[in-house]
Amino acid sequence: MTVSHELDLLSIRAAAVTVAGIAVRTPLMSSVRLSASLGYPAWLKLETLQPIGAFKIRGAANALTHLAPEQREKGVVCCSTGNHGRAVAYAARRLGIAATVCLSHLVPETKVRAIEELGATVRRIGKSQDEAQLEADRLVAEEGRIDIPPFDNPRIIAGQGTIALEILDERPEIDTILVPLSGGGLISGIAVAAKAIKPSIRIIGISMDRGAAMHASLAAGKPVEVDEVPSLADSLGGGIGLNNQWTFDICNRLVDDVILLTEEEIYRGMRALLMEEGLVTEGGGAVAVAALLSGKVKVSGPAALIISGRNVDMRQLLAIGRNEPIQLGSLTVQG
Ligand SMILES: *Cc1c(COP(=O)(O)O)cnc(C)c1O
Repeated sequence: MTVSHELDLLSIRAAAVTVAGIAVRTPLMSSVRLSASLGYPAWLKLETLQPIGAFKIRGAANALTHLAPEQREKGVVCCSTGNHGRAVAYAARRLGIAATVCLSHLVPETKVRAIEELGATVRRIGKSQDEAQLEADRLVAEEGRIDIPPFDNPRIIAGQGTIALEILDERPEIDTILVPLSGGGLISGIAVAAKAIKPSIRIIGISMDRGAAMHASLAAGKPVEVDEVPSLADSLGGGIGLNNQWTFDICNRLVDDVILLTEEEIYRGMRALLMEEGLVTEGGGAVAVAALLSGKVKVSGPAALIISGRNVDMRQLLAIGRNEPIQLGSLTVQG
């Protein structure tokens, strides 16, 4: 088997075939209310309806399917507490590959159980994410496990890019795609695919205004570190890696704009999706709607909004639905 690491429309089309059967083709739902208030058609791409509740299943399915037989034998490892960990666990079980997720002792029991329920072995080690990562590194070095990175990898990016194929296949008239942005795997795949199919399309990234690593890196002209602070969009936290190989360059070339949102704006996006569309989303999943509601992004034609995930603390979301204040560290947030 040849291991090619190209990333182009062809490899993304190939990924669409590869991930079918593990990831699902999600609905592109018309938002009647949003379309009426904005004055142009707004389409919601419901990645919340993936089996693990987030799009990351696409990248994980593509990366794991492409492992060589001897790599599958060794098993995979990652140390994400969030949607990447769930995606790797789910895809590994479907493909009959052993998966180990390394977590610190600080990770709450409920998150540990969610990953164990998906069939992965959880290894608990140390008191920080860094110590968990060291254990993952050790499993790679000493046992030959294969590390599955969350975003900076061409197979992961190609998997996420299959979202753009589905959008433009159904609605070729769409001329803007609004994409939640953290490490940039999602927006990179979408930008590569969408701009190859339709060069005039605009790709807009959306992050929270505190700790937006890709935005800060693009401004600095190189990958930089940012402080991580609590956010309603917790799945958008974390760095892009000072050694970033793929997503920084792709974002630099293909992303037209990056919009930053306050916690209040994210709160209102989550609330609008829950109360007006009947959709459960996590903060990171609601930022595209939040960006349009905030008026910070100017769109004139039909737009697709990536609703990226629904793995939210349900008590927090219900409080937002009741318009109650939310405590984030020292910050109190209300819509
Ligand atoms: C991971 C994630 C993102 C951001 O994806 P990147 O590829 O890191 O930019 C957005 N929304 C949700 C729900 C996620 O889990």
